[in-house]
Amino acid sequence: MELGTVMMQSNLIHYKLKRILPRVTKPGRYVGGEYNSVAKDWDTTDFKVALAFPDIYDLGMSNLGIMILYEQINRQPDMLAERVFSPWTDMEDLMRAEGIPLYSLENKRPIREFDLLGISLPYEQLYTNVLNLLHLANLPLRSSSRDESYPLVIAGGHACYNPEPLADFIDAFVIGEGEEIIVEVARTLQAMRGQSRTEQLRAIARIQGMYVPRFYDVSYNDDGTVREVVPNTPEAPRRVLKRIVPVLPTPFTRFLVPNIDTVHNRAPIEIMRGCTRGCRFCHAGMITRPVRERPVAEVMTAIGEIIANTGFEEISLLSLSSSDYVYVHELVDTIHEQYHDSGLSLSLPSLRIESASADLLDKLGDTRRSGFTFAPEAATEKMRDIINKYVPDEQVLETARAVYSRGWRTIKFYFMIGHPEETLEDVQAIINLCKAVLREGQKLLGGKANVNVGVSTFIPKPHTPFQWVPQDTHEQVEQKLRLLKDQLRGHGLHLRWNSVHESAFEGWMSRGDRRLGRVIERAWELGCKFDAWQDMHRHDLWMQAFDEHNLAPWFYTERERSIEEVFPWDHIDAAVHKKFLIDDYLMSIKGETRVDCRDKCFACGILPKFKEMRSQTEEMAWECPPVKPISDRKRAGSDGERTPNVVLSP
Ligand code: SF4
Repeated sequence: MELGTVMMQSNLIHYKLKRILPRVTKPGRYVGGEYNSVAKDWDTTDFKVALAFPDIYDLGMSNLGIMILYEQINRQPDMLAERVFSPWTDMEDLMRAEGIPLYSLENKRPIREFDLLGISLPYEQLYTNVLNLLHLANLPLRSSSRDESYPLVIAGGHACYNPEPLADFIDAFVIGEGEEIIVEVARTLQAMRGQSRTEQLRAIARIQGMYVPRFYDVSYNDDGTVREVVPNTPEAPRRVLKRIVPVLPTPFTRFLVPNIDTVHNRAPIEIMRGCTRGCRFCHAGMITRPVRERPVAEVMTAIGEIIANTGFEEISLLSLSSSDYVYVHELVDTIHEQYHDSGLSLSLPSLRIESASADLLDKLGDTRRSGFTFAPEAATEKMRDIINKYVPDEQVLETARAVYSRGWRTIKFYFMIGHPEETLEDVQAIINLCKAVLREGQKLLGGKANVNVGVSTFIPKPHTPFQWVPQDTHEQVEQKLRLLKDQLRGHGLHLRWNSVHESAFEGWMSRGDRRLGRVIERAWELGCKFDAWQDMHRHDLWMQAFDEHNLAPWFYTERERSIEEVFPWDHIDAAVHKKFLIDDYLMSIKGETRVDCRDKCFACGILPKFKEMRSQTEEMAWECPPVKPISDRKRAGSDGERTPNVVLSP
């Protein structure tokens, strides 16, 4: 597109924005210019990357992944990265009415003018927003309809471990971690400029971790299951092995200070990636192996830089299981020493109940404002064995006493309903446990004690031991929720749950196949978008879309899979052997557990898959099994002995 038109377009966007912004909610979402944002000179910077989070600014600005990629690209002198978020409905309507195409926040450039559009996909509810973004950017929705004159559209994030439902719309998927690969993809495309889109994609398919769906043909059996997924070009590997970074890169510390309040007004630092606990429902725990931990000094330097660069007053130390981070005590001590009277607030999400030692609570004591969050997920020994997350009730009560006795008034619990073999008695046990915890709190704090309970419906995920199991039907979920709603109420007890339709939707997309593409497109045409928002999700329109395409939603959710079944995502290699997952699934049916693999390696597949990488990295990459946390060397259940589970009354 010639420069004249480009300049005209961008000036026009500026001009039109001035007119419409006073008429939308939170105009700060659409103006950019934040402290620490990077607006490079458009005309003199060679390669242009648009990074999109397909939901509103308030959510996207708290996404650490986008920020890391933003820095990785902007570090390249000849490249620029600019942010794009989904406009909320009022802004979208005005943009469509005014003919304003989707634009980037930094230079207010139409997305159509970028070389590469990278879309972050942490969860499946964002799929219709992806189509809406492409349409607002005046890009043809289907990958096959976009040639080299259009930006190359790639996507990455946890949801991409089953990329098939979006295969028709995305040119290439990043499988695994994006820090290094985003620059490789950009450099490859930069070098292939002027070549045909097919040639460009052949080059992209050669990059380890890149999946180009058009280079794979899918065939189905008569019963609708996948027969096979086979490459149709030599550049496409039979299985696409995920990409990992051997060592966690230096933490991102130049956070953009948002124009408006965002969902997390705090700066996250990833202290550990991966987890070895092996909870069978946990997608993240399986796909982010191996464990890599950040040294305390690096975290401390990052905290200092974040405060200096942003003025943020709250820092969250991120990982899947913070109490398993080897240096957790040392880190909390050091932060306490340096910042205890600075007003800095520290959050340490995803603490495990059994290892939340009293002194850890104390050390965190004066920097925390709110309550404590734990995720026991299940409340009976049987269910805990099946999901392989063993937390005896007595441990829950002991930790609750420790929390309440230190003056915290609220404990938040996360439970799941719908795991395999679950009965109403198992759901009743959740109620009994929450009430028992509240009683402990009331003994110490009287009427000030609170128990907030979040209940989600278990959704079987690809690449986990539970990828074979059926998801609960609507009726089963409704029955269990009714029991919980009837009994988990009253003073000090607060219950929140996911809607049945939301859970069904996530189930379809999580284990869907490539045929779901036309259902997603039809649902979008019918008006579906912002499916992650309970009041925006339109179950009726989704049912219509499935119907019109003669596909049965239950086929994707409520159907038990045979061990031999070929999965739509089997050609995506998360580096954990399918055999390991099958064994673990069969163990779960027998109620057999596995200890944390820090105690005993089960040869899940990570080691052989990345042996070569480990040997190439001179810097100490990662150990498998990783070393054990000091405090938890002697861990309940690790040597097989168990604290018996006390039977709790309602
Ligand atoms: S290789 Fe062994 S120690 Fe490493 S993640 Fe797999 S089971 Fe755990």
